[in-house]
Amino acid sequence: MKIKEIHVYAHDLPVKNGPYTMANAKVWALDTTLVKIVTDTGLVGWGETCPVGSTYAPSHTKGARAALDEMGQGLIGAPLHPLSLRRKMESLLNGHRYAKAAIDIAAYDIMGKATGLRVAELLGGVAQENVPSYFATGVGEPDEIARVAAEKVAEGYPRLQIKIGGRPVEVDIAVMRKVWEVIRGKGVRLAADGNRGLPTRDALRLSRECPDIPFILEQPCNTIEELAAIRGQVHHGIYMDENSEDLATVIRAAGQGLVDGFGMKVTRIGGLQQMAAFRDVCEARSLPHTCDDAWGGDIMAAACTHIGATVAPRLNEGVWLAAPYIEGHYDAKNGIDIIGGHIKLPEGPGLGVVPDEGAFGNPVLSFG
Ligand SMILES: [Mg+2]
Repeated sequence: MKIKEIHVYAHDLPVKNGPYTMANAKVWALDTTLVKIVTDTGLVGWGETCPVGSTYAPSHTKGARAALDEMGQGLIGAPLHPLSLRRKMESLLNGHRYAKAAIDIAAYDIMGKATGLRVAELLGGVAQENVPSYFATGVGEPDEIARVAAEKVAEGYPRLQIKIGGRPVEVDIAVMRKVWEVIRGKGVRLAADGNRGLPTRDALRLSRECPDIPFILEQPCNTIEELAAIRGQVHHGIYMDENSEDLATVIRAAGQGLVDGFGMKVTRIGGLQQMAAFRDVCEARSLPHTCDDAWGGDIMAAACTHIGATVAPRLNEGVWLAAPYIEGHYDAKNGIDIIGGHIKLPEGPGLGVVPDEGAFGNPVLSFG
């Protein structure tokens, strides 16, 4: 089974009740990129990649499409096996893992449809049918964020991530204290995500002034060197998110004991094939991690949920989805939603989500 055609679509995903605010970015709408692969046997699979703006990570929408344009024709005739396909993509373009991920996801979708297996089964097997999610607040004021935290705990989320940074650290400290007041004793895990926005000075102060609050500090500072500098001085576990750009960096961080866990994005690491390797590295060192993506619709959500379903439950920090911020679904029947803080693994073969491609208009790129 080989790739016969590749079609790339652009689709607008407005942010419900926007903007979504992080330490270094505010987003009102996302322009997502969908990839449809058609095989020589007639099977069709879908992938997606949706950078959350142009400042969250070294990735952006136009970059994704330029990378797909660069590789597209060279992938016609390639076999659908994800490892071979990744090597083929490496032979056509250096870097740009976030664009390659869309092709990888579509390949898994097709392999699932061809074999009658769900993507989670192809990735090693389902550990949890009801996959835990976590809720990420925006950067906000203490009372507002505490109100959201209480609401999300009541909905059933097993974990909360509070966005911090990009402002005086006193406000971040007040937010974490206020949130802890409302969730204490409820058995909910807590993360404070700086999205690279804190100087080491502020990360140290936040940790020292909240020694009684059991949050983990996710990517508080901008670089690996800054994380290493605060590592021995903080009261809290440190997770790496944005800096874990590839598997080699993950192995280095895990091997050096630099972090206690990871926030990981399927597209950042290059797709589900690399994500499975990442999962296994983390399990070997008992490092908890998430299986997210930065943004995206039902295809991205399904991809994250399938890999998230395979993670050992004791290490599973959940699957974050943009679904609560997006109106509607690509697949009215099987669209991915978070219910009671958890996501039900789709039942159909492949990703288990079949988009209504009429909603995407004409392709912006076609190959084959
Ligand atoms: Mg993060």
